[in-house]
Amino acid sequence: MAIRRIVIVGGGTAGWMTAAALSKLVDAHPVSITLVESEMIGTVGVGEATIPPFVDFNRLLGIDEAEMLSAVQGTFKLGIHFLNWQRRGDSYFHPFGNYGYDIEGCAFHQIWLKYRLAGDPRPLHAFSPETQAAMQRKFAKTDPAQREDLPPINYAYHLDAGRYAKFLRRHAEARGVKRQEGKVEDVQLNSESGFVEAIRLEGGQEIAGDFFVDCTGFRGLLIEQALKSGYEEWTHWLPCDRAVALPSAGDGNILPYTRATAHSAGWQWRVPLQQRNGNGHVYCSAYMEDEKAHDILAANVDGEIQADPNFLRFVTGRRKKFWNRNVVAIGLSAGFMEPLESTSIHLINTAVNKLVALLSLDGVTREQEEAFNRLTRKEYERIRDFLILHYKSTERDDSEFWNYCRTMEIPDTLKEKIELFRLNGQIFREDDELFTATSWVAVMVGQGISPIGTNAMAGTVAEPGLSKELGEIQKSIQYLVDHMPTHEEYLARYCPAN
Ligand code: FAD
Repeated sequence: MAIRRIVIVGGGTAGWMTAAALSKLVDAHPVSITLVESEMIGTVGVGEATIPPFVDFNRLLGIDEAEMLSAVQGTFKLGIHFLNWQRRGDSYFHPFGNYGYDIEGCAFHQIWLKYRLAGDPRPLHAFSPETQAAMQRKFAKTDPAQREDLPPINYAYHLDAGRYAKFLRRHAEARGVKRQEGKVEDVQLNSESGFVEAIRLEGGQEIAGDFFVDCTGFRGLLIEQALKSGYEEWTHWLPCDRAVALPSAGDGNILPYTRATAHSAGWQWRVPLQQRNGNGHVYCSAYMEDEKAHDILAANVDGEIQADPNFLRFVTGRRKKFWNRNVVAIGLSAGFMEPLESTSIHLINTAVNKLVALLSLDGVTREQEEAFNRLTRKEYERIRDFLILHYKSTERDDSEFWNYCRTMEIPDTLKEKIELFRLNGQIFREDDELFTATSWVAVMVGQGISPIGTNAMAGTVAEPGLSKELGEIQKSIQYLVDHMPTHEEYLARYCPAN
C-alpha cells in the first residue's frame, strides 16, 4: 500500500528530529506528515549531552550552528571526564577525536604502548588535542594556530533538550509538517494485516495514516502497547534503573566537557549549559533508595539548585522489534541503555538515517523491516558492550553495587574485546560500530586494563626519530591549545544564549 500519510506520535527530541528530517519529503512528494504530541504529558527533557555525529545531523538539515546553539543555550563538548570509576579518587578523560596519528600504518596507541612498556612516562592523554583543550577549559572549532600537522578538533554539543525540540519544531513546521496537540487514547489495528490504521485522540478525533513513527518515549504506545513487539532487558549488565535530575545555576565556569562522577550505587552527570548546569544521579534501586540518591546529588552540585527534583525510572534494554509492520520506534520507545556515553540522541539520529535510507513511498516490505531491525540490534549491542565496560572494569570494592558490577558475567563479545586488548593492545571495530579505537582505548587504559605486549607491527616502525616525533606531536598540541580562546570567550563571541 502506497504511503501518503506519515504520522509521528510524540514530540520530544525523537519526534521533532524525525519530523525535521522527513519534512523534506513534503515538497517533493504527495505525502503529508503530521506530528501528534501532548503538552500535558510532556517530555523526558533531560537528554542534554551529545556526541560528534550529531553535529553532522544538524548540518545535513541545513541548520545554522550558531543560531541553533544560541537558541538552546548550547555549549561545546570535547569528551567526558570520568571520576572515581576505577578507584575512588582517580580520573581519566574519554576524548572525541584521535590520539596522535597513525605512523607507518601503525595505530598511534600501539606506538605509545611500545614506549610505555619500555618505561616512557608520557601519558596517552598528552597526545589528544581534545583532552588537552578540555583540561585547560579552552575551545576552538578550527585551528587558530593554522597548523597543518594536526586534524581538526572533534566536538559535540551540550544543549537544553526542551529548547532543541522547540527549535526543530519551527524548522519542521516551516517545511510543511503539521502539528496536532492531543492525547492519544486508542490505536486502531487492521483486523487482517495487524497494521496500524489510525490513532484516536481524547475527544474522539481520529488521525489515519499509512506509516507511523512511534516517538512516545518509554510508553511505546504503538510499538509495544498496540503491537506487543517485546523488550529484551539488559538490567543484569546495566543495572542502573533510576535517575534524579536537579538543574543548578551556572557560575560562569562553563566546562567544555561532560563530567561523570561515580558514587556508591551509580554515577552523577554534570552537563554545562550557558546559563545553568544539568545535573543528575543515575542509580540502581536494588542498592539505593530514592531519597539517598537525591541527597547525594544535592550535596554534590555546583551552583544554586533551580528546580524540584525530577525522578525518572527506566529499564535498560531494547525493543525486540524496532520496526514492526508499518510502525518504526525511534527514541526511548525503541530502548534505553543509560546516559553514560550520551548515546540516546545519537541512536535517534542513526534510526532517522536508516529510516530515510530504507523508506519507500510505494509501501512497506518484510526486507525493509528485517534490515532495519538487524542493523539497529547490532548497533545497540555494540554500544551496550562499551557501556558495560565502564562498570565491569572497576577495582572498586567499597559497596555492594560495585562488587556486583566487578564480578558480573559479561557478554562474550565484550569478553573477547577485553582479552584481545590485554594481549597486545588490539581493538577491532566491528559492524560499523559507533565507538572508535580511541574510545575503547581511552576507557580501557583509563580504567586500568594494561596490555602485556604490543602488536608485532609496532616493532617494525623505524626507530630513529620516533621518540622525537612523539615529542613533536605533543609540542604541536600544546601550541594549538595555547592559541585557543577559553570556552567562555568562544561562546560569548560565536553563539551567546538568546
Ligand atoms: P520523550 O521525551 O519522553 O517524548 C515523548 C513524547 O511523546 C512527548 O512529546 C509526549 O508528550 C508524547 N506522548 C507520550 N504519550 C502520548 C500520548 N498518549 N498522546 C500524545 N502524545 C504522547 N540522551 C542523550 O543523548 N544524552 C544524554 O545526556 C541523555 N541523558 C539522559 C538522562 C536520563 C536520566 C534519561 C532518562 C535519558 C537521557 N537521555 C540522554 C535520553 C534522551 O533524553 C532521550 O533519548 C530523548 O530525549 C528522546 O526522548 P523521546 O523523544 O524518545 O521521549
